[in-house]
Amino acid sequence: MISTQMMELTGKNSAIRAMFEEGNRLAAIYGRDNVYDFSLGNPNFPAPDSVRDTAVRLLTEKDPVSLHGYMPNAGFPAVRRTVADSLNRRFGTKFTDNNILMTVGAAGGLNVILRTLLNPGDEVMVFAPYFVEYGNYVANYGGVIKVLPPDMDTFLPNVDEMERLIGPKTKAVIINNPNNPTGVVYGEDVIRRLASVLERKQAEFGVSIYLISDEPYRELVYDGASVPWLTTVYRNTIVGYSWSKSLSLPGERIGYLCIPSEIDDAELIWNAACIANRILGFVNAPSLFQLIAAECVDDKLDVALYDANRKALYSALTGMGFNCVLPQGAFYLWMKTPEADTSFVNAAKAERILVVPGSSFACPGYIRIAYCVSPMTIQRSIPAFIRLAKQYHLNAAKFRV
Ligand code: PLP
Repeated sequence: MISTQMMELTGKNSAIRAMFEEGNRLAAIYGRDNVYDFSLGNPNFPAPDSVRDTAVRLLTEKDPVSLHGYMPNAGFPAVRRTVADSLNRRFGTKFTDNNILMTVGAAGGLNVILRTLLNPGDEVMVFAPYFVEYGNYVANYGGVIKVLPPDMDTFLPNVDEMERLIGPKTKAVIINNPNNPTGVVYGEDVIRRLASVLERKQAEFGVSIYLISDEPYRELVYDGASVPWLTTVYRNTIVGYSWSKSLSLPGERIGYLCIPSEIDDAELIWNAACIANRILGFVNAPSLFQLIAAECVDDKLDVALYDANRKALYSALTGMGFNCVLPQGAFYLWMKTPEADTSFVNAAKAERILVVPGSSFACPGYIRIAYCVSPMTIQRSIPAFIRLAKQYHLNAAKFRV
């Protein structure tokens, strides 16, 4: 028999994954071109050529024994130094290799840091709408997730609610900037307000409250938006990053944790995190892709590709009368549904449009449309969206294809 906890989890498969599988089923029946799959944040654009070229060079030129061998649990020191230098250049920080722990993507990094910090019963706060896997990651270590209600006007972190609900058992707060699922970028103002509440509460309760900033979409921003670097705003910040989205490498599982020396118990946390990376079974992040990430550390995907999708979809949907949040970052469009989100998702599915209900992110009444798809998918989906809009008497007539 499997464990009770896993029994519960097998009963509630991720809605995102379920929709993705539904997309594959429909594609087998109707053909891939006739299914508009906006369910998964799986980048459709290929990694930059530099990734392939570096991989080929490393595989042909590097000593295979060291290339494929074990290494320190934190990763290759030279890779960590390169990542630290890149952060220092961009944010004026003073990190060294001993602040960078290479991880198995952002998901691996979050698990490492939560394993490091949490005692059973410790609370971790998240702001709705939020990436639902956080709940599973926190539960992995006996933590208790506290979901703060969304600010429905701005979808920025609801700092007032955080101040009201935070308590002595709060060990960490997770934020995700730019945000999945809303595409909202949290600016300096809200971050400063959040930091000042955390500082006050740390003093009041006499505890350390760590801010875990999950930033796999940091590079994907539009219209000149910028994502504040948090370790210089709130001292007890730990940053998680991954190249899954910025270099289109989600299957390669490569990212890092930045653990500044200034955080409370920094040395203990660093040592424990290295052990957590080992004993969670990651042992170390993938060797080849650590080296590739280091060589391509300042390379990026052309954000203009996502920007074109963003503009095409936003203007089409708002033109039809749908109410959308204009995304400033990531590659998700957050759209208000004219009826219950779960019913709307079914109506969309009948048009072979696959999207994820807001309830899956603890924010019903919305859907998430992942526009990391080919521009052709967006173009082809427009008539289907128009038919959907007509069902709800939205203003489809105004929209010209
Ligand atoms: N955090 C957020 C907010 C995400 O959207 C994702 C993936 O979609 C992850 C973490 C996991 O990223 P990775 O593939 O790097 O583990």
